[in-house]
Amino acid sequence: MSTPTTYVYEFADGNREMTGLLGGKGAGLAEMTRLGLPVPPGFTVTTEACRIYLETGQEPPELGVEVARALAGLERAMGRDLGRPDDPLLVSVRSGARFSMPGMMETILDIGLNDASVAGLAKASGQERFAWDSYRRLLQMFGHTVMGVDGALFEQAIGAHKAALSVTDDHALDAAELAALVEEFQAIIRRETGEDFPQDPFEQLYRAVRAVFASWNSERARVYRHREHIPEDLGTAVNIQTMVFGNLGPDSGTGVAFTRDPATGERGMYGDYLPDAQGEDVVAGVRDAVPLAELKDLDPRAYAELGDHLRTLEAHYRDLCDVEFTVERGKLWILQTRVGKRTAEAAFRIAHDLQDEGTLTADESLGRVGGTELTRLMFPTFATRPADVPLAHGVPASPGAAVGVVVFDSEAAVRRAADGQHTVLVRRETTPDDLPGMIAAQAVLTSRGGKTSHAAVVARGMGKVCVCGTEALAIDPAARLFTTPAGVVVREGDTLSVDGTAGTVYPGALPLAPSEVGRCLETGEDTGPLTEAVLSALAHADSVRRLEVRANADTPEDAARARRLGAQGIGLCRTEHMFLGERRSLVEAMILARDDGAREQALAALLPLQREDFTGILKAMDGLPVTIRLLDPPLHEFLPDRTELAVRIARAPHPDAHDRDLLGAVERMHEENPMLGLRGVRLGLAVPGLVTMQVRAVAEAVVQRLREGGRPRAEIMIPLVGAVEELRLARAEAERVLAEVAEETGQNLDCPIGTMIELPRAALTAGRIAAAADFFSFGTNDLTQTTWGLSRDDAEASFFPLYLEKGVFATSPFETLDQEGVGRLVELAVEAGRAVNARLETGVCGEHGGDPESIHFFHRAGLDYVSCSPLRIPVARLEAGRAALTDVTTSDSR
Ligand code: ADP
Ligand code: MG
Ligand code: MG
Repeated sequence: MSTPTTYVYEFADGNREMTGLLGGKGAGLAEMTRLGLPVPPGFTVTTEACRIYLETGQEPPELGVEVARALAGLERAMGRDLGRPDDPLLVSVRSGARFSMPGMMETILDIGLNDASVAGLAKASGQERFAWDSYRRLLQMFGHTVMGVDGALFEQAIGAHKAALSVTDDHALDAAELAALVEEFQAIIRRETGEDFPQDPFEQLYRAVRAVFASWNSERARVYRHREHIPEDLGTAVNIQTMVFGNLGPDSGTGVAFTRDPATGERGMYGDYLPDAQGEDVVAGVRDAVPLAELKDLDPRAYAELGDHLRTLEAHYRDLCDVEFTVERGKLWILQTRVGKRTAEAAFRIAHDLQDEGTLTADESLGRVGGTELTRLMFPTFATRPADVPLAHGVPASPGAAVGVVVFDSEAAVRRAADGQHTVLVRRETTPDDLPGMIAAQAVLTSRGGKTSHAAVVARGMGKVCVCGTEALAIDPAARLFTTPAGVVVREGDTLSVDGTAGTVYPGALPLAPSEVGRCLETGEDTGPLTEAVLSALAHADSVRRLEVRANADTPEDAARARRLGAQGIGLCRTEHMFLGERRSLVEAMILARDDGAREQALAALLPLQREDFTGILKAMDGLPVTIRLLDPPLHEFLPDRTELAVRIARAPHPDAHDRDLLGAVERMHEENPMLGLRGVRLGLAVPGLVTMQVRAVAEAVVQRLREGGRPRAEIMIPLVGAVEELRLARAEAERVLAEVAEETGQNLDCPIGTMIELPRAALTAGRIAAAADFFSFGTNDLTQTTWGLSRDDAEASFFPLYLEKGVFATSPFETLDQEGVGRLVELAVEAGRAVNARLETGVCGEHGGDPESIHFFHRAGLDYVSCSPLRIPVARLEAGRAALTDVTTSDSR
């Protein structure tokens, strides 16, 4: 064993822990060497050397000596010298950073060949054709990758030779043809670079190493790192490894193998094999590979040995492994291993099976699956064929797949739904006015906005398929059509297929594959290995999690569904939807009321309707808490649009007094910044009788449920409180009404009253507010807007893309909680609130309640529960469980 030097490690001197220094590939090669697997010997130049190169523009001065020393060791061990004319040692130069990364320098094989050693290789191997083919590959790879020659020029030269001989297969080119190609390639290199291909094997080696270093900063690598949040300063390692040859004839070959099927998770080795081929040929698809199982017939010994190694690796890494191997004249060599990428389905099945087999504990198994994968499995998908070409691509805003006929406005969606038709609502963007249409449609497609646009947020909340920001579509709602860049015109009534998981739109009706997991989660019916794996992961998550999971649900149907999916209550029941539709006229009457009497009359008409809403929801959630938020949005949202109204009045043959009144109200209530205007608790305090009516409806619903023998657990939540005084005023009124109803009915009403924390001032004065609150519910959507001082709808449409691109946001703060800013306020408020009121219950009801990363934060911040849209509940349960695991290395599913 050699003494390890600073910048160079022999494979035998490294191990799997050293991915930071040796890169993923280098650490894997070292670990396999240590395990005694047949790995062609070699050494790794560390990422540290690369970092110095990137910083100073030069490799560290000692590197040359260290590489020479390691190479000399390798030559001694192999009994051959690099590029020696009579029997050359050849090596590959392979890049390998800590995270595998597209855009890094491609591997160069057969380094050490030159005009002299090619003859030596021919002699030593007894195969002249093989030697020339190897040299031709080196020239091609080195010429392109290190010397920057356009790869197409080499391909054209090969093509010309094949055309001249009227053959299509590279194998049809004999030694003489390949020798001629070698000469042509050298000429191409000379012509394109003004330089000869370096004949000195050491120069080949050093230049290749330097090219690997430099490739860290290739455009593609940078873009990829930015997107995947990989630090810029890690650098890459370089692996120099003795060549083994899969292209020495029919008893040789190369392939990839997995310890299990990475697509389904099924047990048993799986992969592809390509006889008589080298390296990249498998991936490049030069010829069709055969299923790995055929190696069993071709070379039973190599196959059996490969099986042994795969088992060793899986047991060692305790996970699915992915292996590259080569067979050289019947001798098996392993060239790479890593923990294999897998589909969501495979992730669940493998985690479950490994636990079953005793390899993983239940905690570890849970660490291997995530909410992102679960989401992918929960929704229907299209069974697409290669012939299906999308009409357009957009932002995958709400997952799932749906088919329907195109409609361009909300009314059409409602009308067609009434006729039993499935529809796709196509809008440039949506507003609250589109709500009925969104409810009626199967899918929503917009040309503007991203993942946090109105359409996206509402669709996700409802579990509707949604694709946003398909900017290439020119939507013309007046003409009831849209046009694709290719000139395809889609009209109202045409059928579309929308894939909200992929963000694609297809013409016509694609066949839908229902989600087995989605169904199982609602019914609890376990129908196969996949659902069994999902249920078992969720069961374990439920058993370990500290966070409760509640639902954001406004209707009895949503509440019931949430409950089936495992919700432990409702964390946010909005009441504004209850003011829409036919009730709008009652709300209008309330707003237009000229005196107390008229207002009271309107409120009295709303009361029984509200009571019914609450009774239904309390029934669906019987025995579990239901947090009802008093009316939050500005009242003008319930009034008609100002311009439309003005036009209507102008066009009317006779003056309409009601419309004029309405217009007056609309104008009176107009606000420049409605988000910061008369809404939330301010509304409750400013509109007499509103809080009274809503609280009475809640109280009476509770009484009704009690009389029906139920166990209603209503909680009243006051929105947008900034100062404890506001809460005290609203609370006093609520308590007065509760006492009044209790008195009237003789029922004991125990109804906690709390507040949302969605203003920085509320968070900063949480110690005071907690004195008047039974619970805090963090409204992180508004808290994010008010902390950043931005309006989501505006920001999303204007500068968000820029901010994401410039790296101001790594992800949208509306998707994943901004822990430093908004999260800090949450922590402060929890701490201050609990200090004053030890029994204070805390939860979150923003969209972040269903986001995996944010859930982990809420766990750490010590909240009692997260609340999210019904379809996110299984994800939240899973992630809350994962968050509770300590000391488990969770698989990084990137
Ligand atoms: P990538 O990171 O793109 O997979 P690799 O470094 O793994 O690149 O190399 C590309 C191909 O060349 C792989 O099929 C690999 O197995 C093969 N290869 C690399 N080094 C050698 C070697 N020393 N002998 C034979 N084949 C090799
Ligand atoms: Mg590889
Ligand atoms: Mg809010």
